[in-house]
Amino acid sequence: MYPKLEIDINKLKQNVKIISRMCHDKNISLAFVTKSFCARKEIVEKLVEEGIDYIADSRINNLKKLKDINLPKILIRIPMISELEDVIKYSDISFNSELKTIKALNEICESKNIIHNIVLMFDLGDLREGYFYEEDLFNNIENIQKFKNIKIVGIATNLTCYGAIIPSEINTGRLVEIAKNVENKFGLNLEIVSGGNSSSLDLMMNDNMPKGVTNLRIGESIVLGRETAYGKNIEGAYQDAFKLVCEVVECKEKPSVPIGEIGVDAFGNKPVYEDRGILKRAIIAIGKQDIDMDSLTPVDPFITILGASSDHMILDVTKSNQKYNIGDKVEFLLTYGGLMSSSTSEYVEKIIN
Ligand SMILES: *Cc1c(COP(=O)(O)O)cnc(C)c1O
Repeated sequence: MYPKLEIDINKLKQNVKIISRMCHDKNISLAFVTKSFCARKEIVEKLVEEGIDYIADSRINNLKKLKDINLPKILIRIPMISELEDVIKYSDISFNSELKTIKALNEICESKNIIHNIVLMFDLGDLREGYFYEEDLFNNIENIQKFKNIKIVGIATNLTCYGAIIPSEINTGRLVEIAKNVENKFGLNLEIVSGGNSSSLDLMMNDNMPKGVTNLRIGESIVLGRETAYGKNIEGAYQDAFKLVCEVVECKEKPSVPIGEIGVDAFGNKPVYEDRGILKRAIIAIGKQDIDMDSLTPVDPFITILGASSDHMILDVTKSNQKYNIGDKVEFLLTYGGLMSSSTSEYVEKIIN
């Protein structure tokens, strides 16, 4: 069945191996973030032997799929107060930033007589989740220490998400300082000082990671083989472990400019067209319902994507050396977003090679 997401497990194994070695050489543990491929168990179970220390995901539904995999699991999105039963069931550690939620977690844990581990999020300026003021963090910890069934095991930060802030020795160094302050002030041992995601790899590779960071949470660098502060490929890692393969359903020569008065397209945008004469156009059976066309790069460098509506994507194949015809397959590399949406689409078949 097409479209098909082809997953090369040996390439993924190699990527995990390289990145886990890089982390372990610097005494940093590796949490493998599995959300980009919806935490498919068939993939994760083949990678656990390659040097992963934790499995991390933003969705409790994903961690639930991995419940039989014998590695500690971290919920990296701060939990919804409505999902706490599942949080304590399917995650060993959850990232938190709200006293109200932590209090509710404690109550559920008390009733079940279990201890749940939490990591507190600190916001170093990217302005997504986490405590922004140290005082606020300290006040909360004072309260959390009264909760008998909650154990604070670490502190974490997230950068390069909302604010696009690049990890540096200065901002990441501040996390280490805060961790030390918390340990001294509250007599805690913070096993996990989680310095960031794939955007922190460049800092680590250049040997500038502040001492005291003990963990990184890595998704994109493993699945797509690149760091995300500057978008550089990681030496020895593969960028094409995931490939999207689509099928041609129509192939015709047509003008490049639509005929008639231009209104708005299927998504309410007013398009502009450049006259490039008659083009050889191929339609492939995939669309905006599955993927954003900007998240695809054709493997054939002579193909350009002209546009897409909900179920059709139109390619300009005029310059290609291959004579595309009905039933032919066209391959694409994906961005992280493209990998996520095609993984999520039930209309895209997944094949592990
Ligand atoms: C998605 C996510 C990550 C992983 O990010 P990558 O860029 O894929 O490495 C790490 N931490 C949190 C909190 C996340 O939401």
